[in-house]
Amino acid sequence: MQNREIIVVGGGMVGALTALLLAQQGFVIHLIEKSPVQVPDEDSPFDLRVSAFSAQSQNLLAQTGVWKNLPENRLCAYQGLQTWEAGSHKLIFDSTELGMDSLGYIAENRWIQAVLWQALKELDNVIFYNNCALLAIHNHSDSVSAVLDNQQQINAELLVACDGANSACRAMMNIGVSAWGYRQQCMLINLKTDCEQQNITWQEFRETGPCAFLPLAENNASLVWYHSPEKIKQLTSLNNLQLKKQIQLQFPKLNFDFEVVDKGAFPLTRRHAQQYSKGRVVLLGDAAHTINPLAGQGVNLGFKDVQCLVELLVHSSDLPIDKLLQRYALQRKPHNLLMQSAMDLFYVGSKSELSIVRMFRKAVLFGAQNSGQLKNRVMKYAMGL
Ligand SMILES: Cc1cc2nc3c(=O)[nH]c(=O)nc-3n(C[C@H](O)[C@H](O)[C@H](O)COP(=O)(O)OP(=O)(O)OC[C@H]3O[C@@H](n4cnc5c(N)ncnc54)[C@H](O)[C@@H]3O)c2cc1C
Repeated sequence: MQNREIIVVGGGMVGALTALLLAQQGFVIHLIEKSPVQVPDEDSPFDLRVSAFSAQSQNLLAQTGVWKNLPENRLCAYQGLQTWEAGSHKLIFDSTELGMDSLGYIAENRWIQAVLWQALKELDNVIFYNNCALLAIHNHSDSVSAVLDNQQQINAELLVACDGANSACRAMMNIGVSAWGYRQQCMLINLKTDCEQQNITWQEFRETGPCAFLPLAENNASLVWYHSPEKIKQLTSLNNLQLKKQIQLQFPKLNFDFEVVDKGAFPLTRRHAQQYSKGRVVLLGDAAHTINPLAGQGVNLGFKDVQCLVELLVHSSDLPIDKLLQRYALQRKPHNLLMQSAMDLFYVGSKSELSIVRMFRKAVLFGAQNSGQLKNRVMKYAMGL
């Protein structure tokens, strides 16, 4: 792979993983990131942005050698996943039923990004363009070039756009998106609890939207509260003590005492790029698709994009670039669309007040809980196994 040059725009979790896997294969990587990336302090309070990483994502991070560099006091393995509709049966997934130690891990996004960057910094074949923004992209028949705001021009055989949901690369390539807002927002609340580290994540579905609990390392936890933008605005305007009261009154019952440490609100938007590539520019991660976060699949899908593109670049290097990018889109687009649609069906179904829909979803949850191997197969699919 020596001397094959690739530009990666965006050094978030998806871009940094792409850059690292390709650099480890010998590609020369030009990594453009507009914001500074720092290793967080191990004793700092937990960041609001956390993700549930599937077994497949964990394996991929382990393959690059970075998983072992995550501090233990920032990682939480979860063995149980429970979901139910308010006042109805629980659907319970347990790692022991699958013969696994855990169903996945919950960690802060910034720590995953930081350990990937630490590994990138050790490689000679990665060239960093930090605190730089992209001004233009020029597609040529045999190369692509990126122009930066410091007037630098970089040439390579491929440009991998990992610049997130509002991708500038996607806009510069005039690639449209199918998008809609869910008319809901999602509030993230970090707690300090009075109990030991927990190992079950759960989600209760309500007509106002889901309410979820994610355990974090040690006595920390994250709550996810979906509601109308008006309600979320009102909740975010409260101080931490007032918010605690509202959680005790309105959120599903928590069986521990806690202190609210941090809070923030995020709009929910579904986007899907109409094309995954144009010329020598290819979209990965949130630049290509965003999904309702209710099942914690967003970055896991992004990591699957990365795995697919890296495998094609390494094992099908004889293919012309347009054919290779077509294969990437053929493998990834239907899969991402299926996952987006499944989440939307679940989300819309869970909010419906129609009694027939209500009866149906209760039956589905009850049936799923008693479906034995089928239930475990669904879980394994979600874990990427
Ligand atoms: C509330 C919420 C909860 C979520 N929970 C989960 C979960 O539990 N599990 C899960 O799998 N997913 C979850 N997700 C989704 C997950 O957070 C995203 O899918 C993931 O962060 C996307 O990573 P990315 O690297 O593609 O994009 P980003 O994280 O957006 O990174 C993009 C990077 O590109 C840089 N950049 C942007 N523009 C430019 C430019 N012009 N030039 C240079 N650099 C640029 C940015 O600075 C950034 O570093 C959640 C999302 C939300 C909103």
